[in-house]
Amino acid sequence: MRYTISPILSTLLLASAALADVPKVVTDFGPIDSLTRQVMGDLGKPFMLLPKGGDPHDFQMKPSQAQALSDADLIFWDGPELMPALNDAITTLGTNAKSVPLLQTGGGKVRLYDGEEGTDPHAWLDPTNADAWIGTIAAELSAKDPANAATYAANADTAQTALRALDAEITAGLAPVKDKPFVVFHDALGYFADHYGLAAVGAIELGDASEPGAEQLTSVKALLTDIKAVCVFPELGRDPKYIETVAEGSTALIGEGQDIEAIMLDPGPDQYATLMRGVAKTLTDCLSKS
Ligand SMILES: [Zn+2]
Repeated sequence: MRYTISPILSTLLLASAALADVPKVVTDFGPIDSLTRQVMGDLGKPFMLLPKGGDPHDFQMKPSQAQALSDADLIFWDGPELMPALNDAITTLGTNAKSVPLLQTGGGKVRLYDGEEGTDPHAWLDPTNADAWIGTIAAELSAKDPANAATYAANADTAQTALRALDAEITAGLAPVKDKPFVVFHDALGYFADHYGLAAVGAIELGDASEPGAEQLTSVKALLTDIKAVCVFPELGRDPKYIETVAEGSTALIGEGQDIEAIMLDPGPDQYATLMRGVAKTLTDCLSKS
């Protein structure tokens, strides 16, 4: 009797061989994890370092996270500007992995902070950046895992098509309010405001999310009145105590809390769209009241 491998069994063997070669991927936080999951699809799931509820500007490594970095083949992250502690960790622990800091090497736009030193790391909030990053993520995965290159490319294509539709939807939604000035809690909306042509005018906490001093609070308070800001926005997961201080005595309305860094959002492939729609909704809900 001759042994033959049934077509079903050989398909299963091929599928498990392909899965065995899928790279071990680590991501830094929600939005980049979401884009990576869209590209990996059913082939695998990245290990996300920053859990839900964590602040990317204040990341501290735990042993399980250190282990994931040591085991990684690929690390997709924003860059040292967003999570300084991760830079050292990748240098010491991620020695077997290819590190892909998307802010620097992802192929999108990079902006500098207005009126402050440094590179603004909140680049995922420009959907054209997310679009470029999806392409980079697919290319890096394919380089490590050529057997699945066609799947990564197809998943990236689907993700980019959805992203362009999302961008058009948000552009249309924001159009009626885009000239209305507002202030955000921490200086994270520069890319979003640039891309959608919004009249964002300031932030209570500056770029590195440091606690604002008395001088900064006074200057934001004056700004709110000077430019007749329509709204000031708190952020989910961050202490709102300064919002009322600066809004007091001005005509600015206090908007709904924003979640620019996906601090309170469930991780997953859909998280990126949820984040972008959520930020846009807080803006239109409040700014349309005047
Ligand atoms: Zn931030």
